[in-house]
Amino acid sequence: MKIARTIAELRALRAGVSDVGFVPTMGALHEGHLELMRRARIDTAFVVMSLFVNPTQFGPNEDLSRYPRQEARDCELAAEVGVDIAFIPSPDEVYRSTTPTTIHVPSVSERWEGAFRPGHFDGVATVVAKLFNIVAPDVAYFGRKDLQQCAVVSKLVHDLDFAIELRFIETIRESDGLARSSRNAYLTRSARRQAPLLYSTLKTTAHRIWAGADVRASIQQAINTLVTAGFQVDYLALVEPASMDEIDKPTPESRLMATARLDGVRLLDNIPVQEE
Ligand code: AMP
Repeated sequence: MKIARTIAELRALRAGVSDVGFVPTMGALHEGHLELMRRARIDTAFVVMSLFVNPTQFGPNEDLSRYPRQEARDCELAAEVGVDIAFIPSPDEVYRSTTPTTIHVPSVSERWEGAFRPGHFDGVATVVAKLFNIVAPDVAYFGRKDLQQCAVVSKLVHDLDFAIELRFIETIRESDGLARSSRNAYLTRSARRQAPLLYSTLKTTAHRIWAGADVRASIQQAINTLVTAGFQVDYLALVEPASMDEIDKPTPESRLMATARLDGVRLLDNIPVQEE
């Protein structure tokens, strides 16, 4: 695996190569990230991964400075799954302008996570557009764990005519159901024991809703379960994943999603409402 730290190095390594799969990450790699890379390895001839803790998608009081960083380990893991190039730029390499152009994806980026983290999706959309222009992939891979990010990137690609195919990969979980996340490292031991309740509550609720139970009542019951167990629920809703519109009747594509805080750590999860 080659490492590129500048845009010029990346472009030189990528020159003349076709059928490129791309997996953008913020590092602290886990099985979720690696699954995206394995998929890219299977589907495409040449795999690029980026490792960049993007400062512009963090709010002023968020965890930018303490976000886990483990570059050497990440490079070992990515090399093991067959990544060809790791693009690891510095913030100064990515953001060179004092008056930077930014991208705002209207509507879909303004609700849910966008409402709790103002500016977050502007940071995401801008860095994804820049990475797409730098790497010029044919296919890009994202995890469904970040459901709204998938919707924002889909609209970005559609509206700005990127000639890139997007593939979304289902969430990889711990054996007790907790969705893998770099931020799980922040959980205290007792919070880690409680955390799988988010997934199990989503499962129970999706099952009820798909079986015909009232959506609002089922959601309220789920919120009560989580709150009683010590979670602070930011939102829990049944949504159409393309628009992220809340709905009150399940459809085969619809997903039940939640964000809840446990001991100050925000946990995001979502599952299809239709049983597999
Ligand atoms: P991040 O490093 O958190 O920005 O994540 C990089 C990519 O990995 C994003 O497309 C995420 O949605 C995806 N991802 C993160 N966690 C998981 C997971 N547990 N399963 C599948 N994909 C994931």
